[in-house]
Amino acid sequence: MAPIRRGRVAVIGAGPAGMATALSVHQAGHDVVLLERYPQARAAGNILNLWPPPIKALGLMGVDIDDIGSPCYTEFRNLAGHRRVAVNLPDDIVREYGGGFVGLLRPALYERLLDALPPGVLQVNRRVDSFDQDETGVRLHLADGDVHECDVLIGADGIDSMVRRTLWGATPKREHNLHIFGGFVLDSDIETAQQGRCILTHSRTTQGAWTSIRHKGRDGFQWWVLTAHDASQEFTADLHATATALGSEFPSPLPELIAATDPADVQRWQLRDRKPLKQWSKGRVTMAGDAVHPTSPYAAYGAGMATEDGYFIGRHLAGVDLRDHAAVRRALHAYETPRKPHTARQSQQAFILGKVFHHAPRPLQVVRDLILDHTPLLQKVVGEASPGEILKQLTEIDAAEQAFAAAGGRKTAE
Ligand SMILES: Cc1cc2nc3c(=O)[nH]c(=O)nc-3n(C[C@H](O)[C@H](O)[C@H](O)COP(=O)(O)OP(=O)(O)OC[C@H]3O[C@@H](n4cnc5c(N)ncnc54)[C@H](O)[C@@H]3O)c2cc1C
Repeated sequence: MAPIRRGRVAVIGAGPAGMATALSVHQAGHDVVLLERYPQARAAGNILNLWPPPIKALGLMGVDIDDIGSPCYTEFRNLAGHRRVAVNLPDDIVREYGGGFVGLLRPALYERLLDALPPGVLQVNRRVDSFDQDETGVRLHLADGDVHECDVLIGADGIDSMVRRTLWGATPKREHNLHIFGGFVLDSDIETAQQGRCILTHSRTTQGAWTSIRHKGRDGFQWWVLTAHDASQEFTADLHATATALGSEFPSPLPELIAATDPADVQRWQLRDRKPLKQWSKGRVTMAGDAVHPTSPYAAYGAGMATEDGYFIGRHLAGVDLRDHAAVRRALHAYETPRKPHTARQSQQAFILGKVFHHAPRPLQVVRDLILDHTPLLQKVVGEASPGEILKQLTEIDAAEQAFAAAGGRKTAE
């Protein structure tokens, strides 16, 4: 059979979704450009944890995953230290990844993704203002006046996605009325902070959490505190002082970790998302990451799902003649069909957990905590459902990889 012509793919946005998409599409043998509006692909934020599926996908896309982070065993606890949830992954996964939830710093992930990108793929200072498409192709209109033509467009342009707005119209952001403060310390000698642990503790109103990290061969810890905050109210207080006050009711090592953090390394975010879309792709255009499923940090899976999205897009476009409109539509449909329930479950669960833990009226807080302390409810919702989702993603990656390898990996002509 004659090899299939190389297609032309454009990806908008050099976050985790866009960089992963570019890597996987390149591996599929198509020509790809990654258009970023800023002068560089820059990590907005510091703290990050990744579950095994994105780590596996990164490795398969040629990203160096050696010593990428600190694998952690995860528990939810109450303020008295009582364990409400243990996230138990099967032994073989723990053996392969060293643990479940891998703690790292976001800039390190960006560096590794950028190192894996082939030269010339990333184009910076290239803001895309609009696009139009027909059955023969897509035309991108850039802020610098350039028009870029391609066969397929992937919008990986984040929560305020122009691509999403153009395809499906404007939908309001959903304010969670929560804010989170996060920071990190490297080379800490706080005795109660153990490597290989991620401990998420809830008081009546606040979550205080810490996890071990590895950063460029150094051990450390990241932490966060999260509580209700009316999104319409401007926040002007000192970040480190506010985090210190919020963290003070939590057991060691959280207060010590906050105290040891350089105030310059404390950041704050307001939590928001958008409701899941029923359909992602239209014609020759689809989306990945926060553009299509912005997810509250409560899930700690937004960057992970963005990475998985990118991996699957490339695998689905392998061997497809991108001039063939019907074939492109079939491939994009096959990409989004399993991604929709997975990503919607994560983003909706994150929204609901935020409500339950931080917006319950005061009388209900006591009842809630009795239920969480004395029934297996949270273990079932978080402790069992999360490993189930992780196993499912790993299985789907294995299946995608087998199909990719069986078809000879790169299936397009040079
Ligand atoms: C406090 C906090 C903690 C988090 N913790 C975790 C965690 O532990 N684990 C996890 O998996 N996730 C976590 N997340 C979520 C994660 O950060 C996001 O889901 C992830 O960054 C989304 O990646 P993305 O590539 O889709 O979008 P983004 O990272 O937003 O990237 C979008 C890119 O598109 C570019 N862009 C936008 N518009 C245009 C345009 N018109 N033209 C050209 N370029 C454009 C932007 O400049 C940007 O570079 C956390 C988030 C927060 C706020």
